[in-house]
Amino acid sequence: VLEMNNIQKHFGDLEVLKDISLSVNKGEVLSIIGPSGSGKSTLLRCAVNLEKIDGGKITYNNDVMADTHNGKVMYAKKNELKKIRDSFGLVFQNFNLFPHYSVWKNVIDAPIHVQKRDRAEVEKTAMELLEKMGIADKKDSYPCQLSGGQQQRVSIVRALAMKPDILFFDEPTSALDPELTQEILKVIKELADEHMTMVIVTHEMSFAKEVSNRIIFMEHGVIVEDGTPQEVFASENQRTKEFLGKYR
Ligand code: ATP
Ligand code: MG
Repeated sequence: VLEMNNIQKHFGDLEVLKDISLSVNKGEVLSIIGPSGSGKSTLLRCAVNLEKIDGGKITYNNDVMADTHNGKVMYAKKNELKKIRDSFGLVFQNFNLFPHYSVWKNVIDAPIHVQKRDRAEVEKTAMELLEKMGIADKKDSYPCQLSGGQQQRVSIVRALAMKPDILFFDEPTSALDPELTQEILKVIKELADEHMTMVIVTHEMSFAKEVSNRIIFMEHGVIVEDGTPQEVFASENQRTKEFLGKYR
């Protein structure tokens, strides 16, 4: 379980996260929605320690990642953070594949060289995942030779090959055309059906409604709604109603 309590984050004078608290439970599919600039990506980046917080507490399975004492944020030791960070898989909007690595090397490199796992076991896992995602025939291609949807499937395979406990997505389909978007959403839906724990920042409202157990609606660095899709989509809050508009 990932717990974030009273998280504060600012960039200069700009308060981006104002006392945000949220938890992610095992097996949960949590979608985070909200207008551009509301702090969704920042929240995700703070959760996985790609961004430092300015206040609050983050724990993962009761291991403290960061905590605040007398106004000062203290982080866990490097090796402890690394261990926690290894439990998280990340998939971004722009795929973030290594352009000079083949698909195969993109997928197996970190599990073998960073996680120091057995090569045969990693290769078996990688092949199974590529097959499952329908891109096994692309294993020797380079990212630039693939469509956007294929590149995104590779980055999902790469994240899964690390055997994460939680998969974080930041607008995984926003660089894709509608058809490829549906293709990636289908892949994420399948992972949800397999009870993969996921946190998904998305602008795809109908998808969020369909796939999530829980939806958080953020605006101006605060959580406006936190509930089941039914609750959030039926909310009487004025801002929520405006934001969800045509999706309600
Ligand atoms: P979008 O839907 O457009 O991706 P978002 O909800 O993900 O938006 P964030 O990227 O978290 O929003 O940004 C929240 C605010 O923080 C924005 O006003 C943004 O300009 C600002 N911000 C984000 N990262 C930085 C940074 N590294 N330095 C300064 N300001 C930043
Ligand atoms: Mg963002």
